[in-house]
Amino acid sequence: MSSHSRLHSILFNKCPRCQQGDFFVSNSAFSRNFDKMHDHCPHCGENFMPEPGFYWASMFVSYAFYTIYALITFAVVVKWLDIDLDYYLIGLVPTLILLTPYFFRLARRVWLSIFISPKSASSL
Ligand SMILES: [Zn+2]
Repeated sequence: MSSHSRLHSILFNKCPRCQQGDFFVSNSAFSRNFDKMHDHCPHCGENFMPEPGFYWASMFVSYAFYTIYALITFAVVVKWLDIDLDYYLIGLVPTLILLTPYFFRLARRVWLSIFISPKSASSL
């Protein structure tokens, strides 16, 4: 995978412009400061907060992640493994709660990478 792609910055907590600076302060979604972001890229200075309330719409991206996760796990657990629906629903709620920080961070990186294109390798 090219290090200068949107997918790289989304998956590896990197700036969508330069792919070098970290997007979130912590690299782990399961740390105390999982939601702390840099205001600007520590490497290139790209503004991570283009306008107030910019990340409000990333809530819809995380909603899509929850929905995709629920549909995939439903297909695997209930349809493929033929496990009772009640057990699936009992297990679904805790996993969604545990995945909340991960989807929160992923949704913000996806949302910002829609609006900021990566620098080409020749311009670095
Ligand atoms: Zn950067």
